[in-house]
Amino acid sequence: MSFFDGVINTGKNVVSTAGKKTDSAVRLSKLKVKSTQINNDIRTRYEKLGEFVYQSTKSGEKNEEELNEHISGLNNCYSELEEISKQVDELRNIVTCPSCGAKHKDDDTFCSKCGAKLPEKPKPEAETETEAETTDEESK
Ligand SMILES: [Zn+2]
Repeated sequence: MSFFDGVINTGKNVVSTAGKKTDSAVRLSKLKVKSTQINNDIRTRYEKLGEFVYQSTKSGEKNEEELNEHISGLNNCYSELEEISKQVDELRNIVTCPSCGAKHKDDDTFCSKCGAKLPEKPKPEAETETEAETTDEESK
């Protein structure tokens, strides 16, 4: 899967160039575009899966192989989405609680939901990244 590999490589680049705010803003918007594309892909796949289930139920033919292809295609989409959301969190310095999965800013030490200690994140050299995110949060 070349697309998936590309996503992973981009993630590695992010870590090494974390100080450049424009860079991370560009990467964030690219990740957003990709996740939109994957969500569209998922919708299309569900349509096809639904059609397949309808046809095979109607005809009474069981085609496990094709069914599994549909399922694994969807699984791939979901793992790509998961990978993208991890990278988005990384770019935004968001820490996920290992205990309950709640998301926090990286300067939080404990989870506000369950009280678990949050993993510490290595700080990027320059903390200018937040400026680049203001397009999302202009209500401040
Ligand atoms: Zn928690």
